[in-house]
Amino acid sequence: MLNDPRSHGLWEKTAPAPPQTVALRGNATADVVVIGGGYTGLSAALHLAEKGAKVILLEAHEIGFGGAGRNVGLINGGMWTMPSEIPGVLGPVYGERLLDLLGNAPLAVRALVEKHAIPCEIEKQGTLHCAVGDKGLEEITERCRQWAARGADVRILSAAETATRTGTDVYAGALLDMRAGTLQPLAYARGLAQSAIAAGAAIHTRSPATSTERTGSRWLVNTAGGSVSADWIVVASEFYSTGPFEAVRNEQVLLPYFNFATVPLSEEQLKTILPERQGCWDTKEILSSFRMDHAGRLVFGSVGALRNSGLPVHRAWAKRALVQIFPQLKGTEFETEWYGRIGMTDDALPRFHKFDDNVVGFSGYNGRGIAPGTVFGKTVASHILGELPEADLPLPVSDVREVPLRTLKGAYYEAGAQIAHFAGARF
Ligand SMILES: Cc1cc2nc3c(=O)[nH]c(=O)nc-3n(C[C@H](O)[C@H](O)[C@H](O)COP(=O)(O)OP(=O)(O)OC[C@H]3O[C@@H](n4cnc5c(N)ncnc54)[C@H](O)[C@@H]3O)c2cc1C
Repeated sequence: MLNDPRSHGLWEKTAPAPPQTVALRGNATADVVVIGGGYTGLSAALHLAEKGAKVILLEAHEIGFGGAGRNVGLINGGMWTMPSEIPGVLGPVYGERLLDLLGNAPLAVRALVEKHAIPCEIEKQGTLHCAVGDKGLEEITERCRQWAARGADVRILSAAETATRTGTDVYAGALLDMRAGTLQPLAYARGLAQSAIAAGAAIHTRSPATSTERTGSRWLVNTAGGSVSADWIVVASEFYSTGPFEAVRNEQVLLPYFNFATVPLSEEQLKTILPERQGCWDTKEILSSFRMDHAGRLVFGSVGALRNSGLPVHRAWAKRALVQIFPQLKGTEFETEWYGRIGMTDDALPRFHKFDDNVVGFSGYNGRGIAPGTVFGKTVASHILGELPEADLPLPVSDVREVPLRTLKGAYYEAGAQIAHFAGARF
């Protein structure tokens, strides 16, 4: 992908090959044209095609080029926002709907992976939200209480239990969420693409949508090599949007996030570190995450961009912090490194936009898009198929609003992470 080892790192190295696709040439017609080949667009295309709709998906680069091919692979339940706060922001009706949908979304991912036999290293032993100090413990305890009250399979682990499951004693406890898990993110995207094609969808890569126009009651989406005429447009280009729906990007602030993957660990190391393979992240403001891939590589990440002066700073930090957390990894080399762009909305919640008649899309996943993208893709498909009226969607229609000072805020996150990692203290 892109010939840039720092874009998709480990995932490009270990994902099965993508399905064969070509760029759009000439003029085509469809019921629905989907813009974007990440989880949202691929899930929408798959669910539409399964119900007999004629779908053409346009991807600017390659399948999984955006967040889908670069992320940590944590299949999370819910968003960052505490469950109790969501009805306050969206109102009780949408709040409850969103909580239900996103709380169960990791299970929907598992079901889809199983149904289509997608080879994506899926792990079902849950995730651990690891508490740093008393403040962290308070936060996860409250989060656990709120999810448990909603019937979720969650519980708090003591510091000792956390140490046994993670292989480090630096945490004061952890929230074990058994709904959640991990997967190989690019393999999942490629598997969704394969399944969508098998269901009858057409996918054109290297085909950025450059403009849209109304032609009678239909839409025309143009690319450099051709156009697609369709009744509906699904906008699924999220934070990597370019072209006609770039505004989606402008309503989010950039939070860069990097990952380093070690060489495969030894049998001895694997006995102590994540023996059950939960995916983990911590409660720090500049958070860190770690998880294992199938071959036993530890993927260790945090906030920051691996470019310019950030590259040596974050590299040095990652080496120091890894050994601070896992002294048993002293001398272990990193094999790959990569980073990507997370988009953060001002209230940390996703959006449903109706850009025009029959032009719709979900976006704004705030670094938690594997499960939400999958279920929002299915939701938008149901809406287009007439199974889910607008009034029953999990989010209200909202206008696209550019975040004030977004460039400055993004630069602040990037510089802030660099300063914090340069200063180096972790706990
Ligand atoms: C470093 C990092 C770590 C993350 N960690 C996690 C995690 O652990 N768990 C989790 O759930 N989420 C995580 N996320 C977030 C997750 O990756 C995203 O939320 C998810 O990929 C969104 O899926 P999507 O399909 O909506 O968008 P994307 O995956 O970003 O796909 C959008 C696609 O649209 C294409 N596109 C853009 N413009 C056009 C155009 N004009 N024409 C055609 N195509 C276009 C892009 O090329 C891109 O491929 C992380 C993200 C990053 C960057």
